[in-house]
Amino acid sequence: MDLTKPYPIATPETAPFWEGLRNEQVLLQRCDDCGTWIFYPRSNCPNCLSTRLNWHQVSGEGTLYTFTVTRQATAPHFVDEVPQLIAMIDLNEGVRLTSTLVAQETDDLKVGAKVTPVFDHVSADVTLLRYRLA
Ligand SMILES: [Zn+2]
Repeated sequence: MDLTKPYPIATPETAPFWEGLRNEQVLLQRCDDCGTWIFYPRSNCPNCLSTRLNWHQVSGEGTLYTFTVTRQATAPHFVDEVPQLIAMIDLNEGVRLTSTLVAQETDDLKVGAKVTPVFDHVSADVTLLRYRLA
């Protein structure tokens, strides 16, 4: 079995997001027509269907919406990461994303806690957006 981790592959819509992470910047799309912040990256605004979307650097900071501690690997590739702290983060701009938390202790993790980005350079080409308590 190939246990090479499945890292993200950039598409034309997502490439600026991944390039931003490599430069330790969080970039989000925002609709020029209605102002809606957008995540995940896409070609059309989910609110008004406009194609006039542009990238903007944001802090990446947000709030812990929910999390879980996985004590069994969610896939064979992640057996070396157990326990894995999978989280949903509400960014300050109002979009929600799924990530993992960098934490030694789970006792301090509380829904609603402020979180800040961690840029995890997993290879020369791929940087993952993870989170830790602010
Ligand atoms: Zn729009």
